[in-house]
Amino acid sequence: MKNFKITSFVTISLFLLLVILDTTVGIALWWYILLLILWFTIMALGSFNMSWGFYLKAFTSNPKVTQKNIAITFDDGPNPEYTLKVLDILNQYNAKATFFCIGEHIERYPEIFKAIVAQGHAIGNHSFSHELMIDFNSTENWLDEIKQTDNAIHKLTNRKTTLFRPPFGVTTPKLAQALAVTEQQVIGWSIRSFDTVIKNPERIVKRITKQLKPGAVILLHDKQPNVLPVLEHLLQVLQKQDYQTVTINELLNEH
Ligand SMILES: [Zn+2]
Repeated sequence: MKNFKITSFVTISLFLLLVILDTTVGIALWWYILLLILWFTIMALGSFNMSWGFYLKAFTSNPKVTQKNIAITFDDGPNPEYTLKVLDILNQYNAKATFFCIGEHIERYPEIFKAIVAQGHAIGNHSFSHELMIDFNSTENWLDEIKQTDNAIHKLTNRKTTLFRPPFGVTTPKLAQALAVTEQQVIGWSIRSFDTVIKNPERIVKRITKQLKPGAVILLHDKQPNVLPVLEHLLQVLQKQDYQTVTINELLNEH
């Protein structure tokens, strides 16, 4: 049973217990409010923490790896200013990464997208619009978002992507239902760089390298200037520590 179903079951059981107590000995209204707040908090935290596996099963790292392999992932591209430069840096260090692309950007920058694929990096679906209110989508709207991006990828590469990363890392029951139809593997991360919030590249690199371990998945974004110094420095550290940077698919299939 999914964790959110267990939470709902426990909440309903506690609610019934409160009703029984209320009708027998009488309890304050606060108990009901407390239960509601608790339930809402757990549901919200479950939405934001993919590693909890609350609404769906997500791959966030591979603790079973025996070699020093690690995956770097880039979200929100392709980007006309930074993606090609990111590819150059990866190439210099002989590193393979995974790009979770937004469908609209794939259609706008098809040549950049094709360059990612041509250089042997892995591709994942990161929705079509990535709009701010996307997490309130119905199952049908989610299916549209996912399929539109799948189609854009297929049109340019003749490939079907099996990977999906939820925008903002948020999962919901509706998204889970849509992904049950498309049968894509949900990919999270184990090291969040906060590169869209922290401006200083050195602070970002420090944040990441503190958490390095075999099988980890690092989240970066190829849409802002700090991605270039961060990536360069990160790859230097990884090289020094004998880490191999591989695609998500490779990391997933290692036992
Ligand atoms: Zn994103």
